[in-house]
Amino acid sequence: MTCVAVILAALSTSSFAQKPASQSDAIPSPKSVLGFTPGDDRTVADWSQITNYFERLDRASDRVVVQTLGQSTLKRPLIVAIISARENILALPKYKEIQQQLADPRKVTQNTQRDQLIADGKVVVTISCSIHSTEIVGSQMSMQFAYELATAQDPETRAILQNTILLLIPSPNPDGVDIVANWYRKTLGTPYEGKEPPELYHHYAGHDNNRDWFMLNLKETQLVTRLLWQEWFPQIVYDVHQQGPNGSRFFIPPFYDPPNPNISPLLLRQVGLMGHKIAADLQAAGFKGVITNALYDTWWHGGFRTAPYFHNSIGILSEAASARLMTPNTVTPEQLARATSRGMRNATEAMTNFPDPWQPGTWRPHDIMAMEMIASRSVLSMASKFRADYLRNFYELGRTNLEIPLNKGDKLAYLVPAGQARDESVAKLIGTLIDQGIEVYRLDQELHVVLSPRVLQRTNPVTEKLGTYKVGGPLTAMQEFPLGSYIVFLNQPQRSNVIALFEPQVYPNRLTGQGEAERPYDVAGWTLPLQLGVDAPAVIAIREAANERKLTLLKDAGQVRADLALALKKGEESPIKNPVKHPVRVGIYKGSTSNMDEGWTRFVFDTFNVPYTSIRDVDMRKGSLNEKFDALVLPSQQSNQIINGNAAGTMPAEYTGGITEAGVKNLKEFVNNGGMLICFDNSCDLAIKEFNLPIRNVLEGVRSSDFYCPGSILSLELDNKHSIATALPATLPAYFINSSAYAAATDANVRVIARYAKENLLMSGWLLGEEKLRGQIALAEVGMGKGRIVLFGFRPQHRGQAWSTLPLIWNALSSATATSTE
Ligand SMILES: [Zn+2]
Repeated sequence: MTCVAVILAALSTSSFAQKPASQSDAIPSPKSVLGFTPGDDRTVADWSQITNYFERLDRASDRVVVQTLGQSTLKRPLIVAIISARENILALPKYKEIQQQLADPRKVTQNTQRDQLIADGKVVVTISCSIHSTEIVGSQMSMQFAYELATAQDPETRAILQNTILLLIPSPNPDGVDIVANWYRKTLGTPYEGKEPPELYHHYAGHDNNRDWFMLNLKETQLVTRLLWQEWFPQIVYDVHQQGPNGSRFFIPPFYDPPNPNISPLLLRQVGLMGHKIAADLQAAGFKGVITNALYDTWWHGGFRTAPYFHNSIGILSEAASARLMTPNTVTPEQLARATSRGMRNATEAMTNFPDPWQPGTWRPHDIMAMEMIASRSVLSMASKFRADYLRNFYELGRTNLEIPLNKGDKLAYLVPAGQARDESVAKLIGTLIDQGIEVYRLDQELHVVLSPRVLQRTNPVTEKLGTYKVGGPLTAMQEFPLGSYIVFLNQPQRSNVIALFEPQVYPNRLTGQGEAERPYDVAGWTLPLQLGVDAPAVIAIREAANERKLTLLKDAGQVRADLALALKKGEESPIKNPVKHPVRVGIYKGSTSNMDEGWTRFVFDTFNVPYTSIRDVDMRKGSLNEKFDALVLPSQQSNQIINGNAAGTMPAEYTGGITEAGVKNLKEFVNNGGMLICFDNSCDLAIKEFNLPIRNVLEGVRSSDFYCPGSILSLELDNKHSIATALPATLPAYFINSSAYAAATDANVRVIARYAKENLLMSGWLLGEEKLRGQIALAEVGMGKGRIVLFGFRPQHRGQAWSTLPLIWNALSSATATSTE
């Protein structure tokens, strides 16, 4: 028997299902409802089947309550199954109250009260499956796992149910489960069986739906954030993922370097402990190919498994090797030998963090499911056995965050001054903070403060131009900030979250043995006020004593929107008024390959209520583009993908082919006839090369030992005389993610709108080889025929987060209309 066969046999006779009690006879198994066991080869349950199963479980079991959190982007119900012992389920409000007190030690006035809460409380654990919809097995597994918890009678499961409350989220992306299930069924038995669908599996974000946990742009992240960080405050969050098919079989923490310096060491240790427990349980069950301390790190803040650290909770990630959706996959020895990553020389070589490599062969959805079931149970088992420790540590982390720093010069708060002329960005910043449970106060009377010297040293774009206050003078000067400003104090339970969102990130200079840059797992910098273009200086002293201040604690994000005249009207998705000054017919290119930058482009256009039409390859090939559009936007995408799309034979015919040479010719004609073509980052390449523009990317072919910038915030210098930079500050933070920089010969047709700053270029993140970028062109307009091409070297709308540079897009569109109506 292979190890997999052993474990499946063990699962089917495990104590979980061995002795169904009389009440559990009536509880439907997933198989009895679906007609197949979740995880069976070439089967998939879609969202209505999953929600239907959980509804039936809710009705049949007194251990399960299913709640609908709200609607997904495409209006499917997002659900959570709360699973615990019957007596706990009957007392959920009591346990929620205990959690809320443990999460905020200010509500606990005496040690005896604390001890009582710890004695009475349950460890709240969240397990969330398949946020990434092509990593589909978790969503299927959730039904089987819930069923086994609902029916098991063995002592260990009973102890788990008594000591923990599980919030099981079958998928925080219901729309994607259906996109993948429908596609899988459609292609089953065809040559395309097991391939990923050629569309984004989240309407706006695709895979980036797990890059949104501090920005809360998406409905799904908003709903889950409310459940976790306003209601339940889980001590442990386990996010179930799948990775590529050819490497290790299963990753679990400890994570790789570098750690985020704002994560408490106690949390990192608890994360490691949990990971090793899972690894040991998997090994004991005979599974091979489990790796720890590899690839995935804790630096970046925006994922489902990283956000918990900033709420004093333990975040666990697992990454099972993928099958081909629900179709088995065969992995060869050569593939394993080629698989390499940080912390893994290859997938055949034993190492201390990878002691038992998997033997090549067939890999099935069931293998993934069996490992995820064991990992889920390990997490609950640890939570149950060390219940009091988890509750106490959680409380203590919150308490430590409340300590007021005693040293002169320590930061006390961040201020968001009134009068920044970017109300929608201020509302977004403050609303996002409140939605994740951070306390924000409004000044109802002026406040006199001393700002941190670091603020005075940095070149602050917005302060210089737009503030109704002045920053400057001696470092110790008391300055008055007007009423209507907002203040975020550091001594609150989420202190580390506040710091990690407001402070610039300083990514360590990490190089490989060959001197190349070592790629971080995700981006290196994300400072929220910078991304949003909002000034938010740090405060080190406040003149008014606590009882002299007039402050209002904001209850919800709606209050801020109301303050800033951005209240949502009934039926409105977003209150922001279309910033484009004249009606303009905009097309946003949507190719045959899924492109997250395209999704985020639609997201910011929808959020700012700027009308557009998605334009497909076939329309590009057809031509006569000026009849329908004044401006066309090419989101960031490789030129060859735009031109060629999916190759013939790799996808069903309707999903192959790009705009082709005919489309390139039509685009050229569109510009020559007076249209405006707006290109973001990689897509600039298409215009530059295909139209022979007198401009070149100076970063093309540069080695990562000479230049590297993997997702950081950089400073731009703007030419405000140009209509596209009009009414903006002289410098502006912009998002750069392995992006582009241009040089141009002196040419009457090239007008430079923004350059990468000549000094203080890096604002947050990691920038290696700064001299390659200083003073180079970041944004230019190139004339061609009667029209213009606008080249953004960076990502002006990156992940729907880079609001700072959105006005450049709106200004460009405003000027497009002016041209076409001349
Ligand atoms: Zn994933």
